[in-house]
Amino acid sequence: MSELNLILFGPPGAGKGTQADRLRSDFQLPYIATGDMLRANVKEGTELGQQAKQYMDRGDLVPDELIVAMAAERLGEDDALDGFILDGFPRTTEQAEALDKQLSRMSRRITAVLLIDVPDREVIRRLSGRRVCVKAGHNYHVDFDPPKHDDVCDQDGSRLVQRDDDQPEVIEKRLVVYHDQTEPLVDYYDQQGILRRVDGTRPPAEVHDHIRALIATLRLEEDV
Ligand code: AMP
Repeated sequence: MSELNLILFGPPGAGKGTQADRLRSDFQLPYIATGDMLRANVKEGTELGQQAKQYMDRGDLVPDELIVAMAAERLGEDDALDGFILDGFPRTTEQAEALDKQLSRMSRRITAVLLIDVPDREVIRRLSGRRVCVKAGHNYHVDFDPPKHDDVCDQDGSRLVQRDDDQPEVIEKRLVVYHDQTEPLVDYYDQQGILRRVDGTRPPAEVHDHIRALIATLRLEEDV
């Protein structure tokens, strides 16, 4: 298999970022997370950031045309030529179609869409306790993965905060948006034969092992 073009798929709080960290070091692939890119734009106060913030704070999706342009530019960069890990994109059918078109223009395709499955009640439990450091976005959970000192990042000493969109009413909204607008892509990719399901309620190391096994199988299938 020459390139590994992966999409990490699933509801907010499924553990996509955690798995992406592990897969990045396994396969030396660039990690492209549209949520992180948007938050960086908000922080820097760019025009895109200013436009996106209002949608993000409400738990709504940022309009397709803004996202598609941002993602297309990033996917065209040199480091993504041998593969990539996408997280948080695509999130609508229009985005998925735009991605397919862009890849086919480059004679490329998605290798696999890894659906990390987690029920809503677990998403709510995870996101409402999530804390992130202001400096680098390191993640903690008040019950399952607390920092050594309250509200201080173990890794860089910066302050821990709750993301604006991890407030309870915004979490509910993000879940509704996920089920309405993003979940239909499960069928879209299943019909293309590239969807693979993973039980995201298992511990992170087990989820990682499962994903590695899936990728190994894909590589074998490609070789035969
Ligand atoms: P995330 O960190 O992936 O949960 O994304 C945080 C927020 O950024 C989402 O709730 C959306 O408002 C916005 N966002 C991220 N990726 C996309 C996307 N592909 N399409 C639309 N909005 C997005």
